[in-house]
Amino acid sequence: MGKIVDVKFTLKEYRYDKPFHIVGSISSGTTNIEIELILDSGARGYGEASPSFRVNGEKVEVLFEMRNFVRETIMGMDVRNYRRIFDLTDKMFATPSLKAAIQCAVLDAFSEEIGVPVYQILGGAKNTIETDKTVSIDTLENRIKEATDIFKDGFRVIKVKVGENLSEDIEAMEEIYKVTKGAKYIVDANMGYTPKQAVEFAKKIYRKGIDISVFEQPVLATDISGLKFVRFNSPFPVAADESAHTKYDVLRLIREEAVDYVNIKLMKSGISDALAIVEMVKTANLHLMLGCMAESSIGVNQSVHFSLGTGAFDFHDLDSHLMLNEETFRGKFKQKGPKMFVEE
Ligand SMILES: [Mg+2]
Repeated sequence: MGKIVDVKFTLKEYRYDKPFHIVGSISSGTTNIEIELILDSGARGYGEASPSFRVNGEKVEVLFEMRNFVRETIMGMDVRNYRRIFDLTDKMFATPSLKAAIQCAVLDAFSEEIGVPVYQILGGAKNTIETDKTVSIDTLENRIKEATDIFKDGFRVIKVKVGENLSEDIEAMEEIYKVTKGAKYIVDANMGYTPKQAVEFAKKIYRKGIDISVFEQPVLATDISGLKFVRFNSPFPVAADESAHTKYDVLRLIREEAVDYVNIKLMKSGISDALAIVEMVKTANLHLMLGCMAESSIGVNQSVHFSLGTGAFDFHDLDSHLMLNEETFRGKFKQKGPKMFVEE
């Protein structure tokens, strides 16, 4: 028992409650792919791919066309030997979110088969985590309102999107700080600054007495020396997001001493590379955060279990399902405000 006897791909469309604005992109919704695996025992496992052209160069149409290939490749395999399926799907460098969806569906099916939750298969390190919520780029007034609402809803880590306009960003950060004192901040420039602009931003914010817990991807993904420049010239810890897809990217970031944090997203790395990155980053004495693309509750569920299982993350940016118009919550976890947890 445990053999895969059917693989189904379904396109799922979701819309954001309000347009999500980051550097160079305003997004009104997403088309994701849901994968359902059926085992010979009748057990079912689910996974979700949320493709990103901006980060991964993926198009959902291309991923969907791979359904017959995926089917032929994993049909008949046994989810109890999930590493064999991980090794096969590790070849999918061009479609990392699809790799992630398959690997997550495999673990989910295995979990259903043996009656052990995925977070325990992955180690069961924790049973509660806390997520941030994101203030996207907007007018100053709207940014302040959004941050105020997030703080009132109980979130104590606030992610602030910057990178389109340095002076507006500094002003927004100052004003957000005034209405959310006691919160921690993750500031994400999504590659929008030059290294010198990023250092200027960090120094000005620091002089105003505002602390930033993580300064995410200040410069271009390919500018590893720029990341390193910001790391050693700003008072705040610097994170790689767009620069860190595979374990090979992270090996280079560690070797070049370019960052303090790596933002893992299953949609960039799948479970297999994410597991390797966790061990590499911990071994190098650096830190981890866990983020998402535009996953619904099924996709965010994958990340919640990954984090609970490995217990490796200082910060979580798992808020996409809170911003999409999903009718039914389908995660195998519970959520109260920022808290995401499983009951033992
Ligand atoms: Mg980011």
